[in-house]
Amino acid sequence: MNISRRIVLHFPPRITGQPVVFRLARDFNLKFNILKASISPGEEGLLVMELSGDQNNFDKGIRYLNEVGVKIQSLSQDVVRDEDRCTHCGACIAVCPTSAFSLEAKTRRVLFDHNKCVVCGLCVKACPPRAMRLYF
Ligand code: SF4
Ligand code: SF4
Repeated sequence: MNISRRIVLHFPPRITGQPVVFRLARDFNLKFNILKASISPGEEGLLVMELSGDQNNFDKGIRYLNEVGVKIQSLSQDVVRDEDRCTHCGACIAVCPTSAFSLEAKTRRVLFDHNKCVVCGLCVKACPPRAMRLYF
């Protein structure tokens, strides 16, 4: 059975220069589509990607990532915005790796596109009035 998931990978500094993602394709026959990358050698890296392939290979690939020290964001969560709490301050726009937030020029309101969200949780911590909530 083939599956496809959007995942967020956190790379510790010691492995940011290694061909970890290349090995997902070569050793486990997985296809990946990188949605957002923020990786510099020697620093912690963040990679948002859509990963797909055979379920067994997918599981092996995830195990491999765990073994080399990559932290994988839980896939069974959801992030929602409490519209009553949001003050449209814009703090979430800068932290979101997938550009799920945008500023509507005319109204100066911050729009949230739930479809772009990969549930990394960064906006939850960054939101001053705690309008972004993480559900398990
Ligand atoms: S950081 Fe919170 S309050 Fe500010 S715009 Fe984003 S969701 Fe709204
Ligand atoms: S959890 Fe927040 S910061 Fe992360 S992708 Fe979703 S909207 Fe963007």
